[in-house]
Amino acid sequence: MKRDSDCIFCKIVAGEIPCTKVLEDDVALGFMDIGPVAEAHVLLIPKPHYETVDELPSDLVAGTLKHLPELVRAISAATGCEGLNVLQNNGAIAGQLVPHVHFHLIPRDAGGKFQFNWPAGKYAEGQMEQLAEKIRQNL
Ligand code: 5GP
Ligand code: ZN
Repeated sequence: MKRDSDCIFCKIVAGEIPCTKVLEDDVALGFMDIGPVAEAHVLLIPKPHYETVDELPSDLVAGTLKHLPELVRAISAATGCEGLNVLQNNGAIAGQLVPHVHFHLIPRDAGGKFQFNWPAGKYAEGQMEQLAEKIRQNL
């Protein structure tokens, strides 16, 4: 399995650092975040070491994210949360501190401390279509 000997999540996968597991199979692991931004904050990771989502083979994405619905249901049932954010910080500028792909599952309740600044903007005439075309050309 692809592994980075300096990576804290690879060490968790290998059992060299303890974690509190909630779900595990051959390719994916779900465990409690040690620094929760909300109670029952869970991390879902692919076991092999890939730093960012753009590097992930799609079968590994499928093998990891197939657990998302059941995990969201279980966290919701366990906490009674009103909603939940699935968050993936991709790259340091996006807030990624641990360079092994992980998906945050963060229960949300009214009055919770975890909040987004969501500064919705507006496009100039034609700008959105131009950007979409650029994206399509790069697919
Ligand atoms: P990032 O900022 O990279 O998206 O999030 C990294 C997350 O990993 C943080 O929420 C942090 O609390 C969590 N984390 C870092 N080290 C450990 C650890 O050793 N064990 C566990 N369970 N979580 C960790
Ligand atoms: Zn790793």
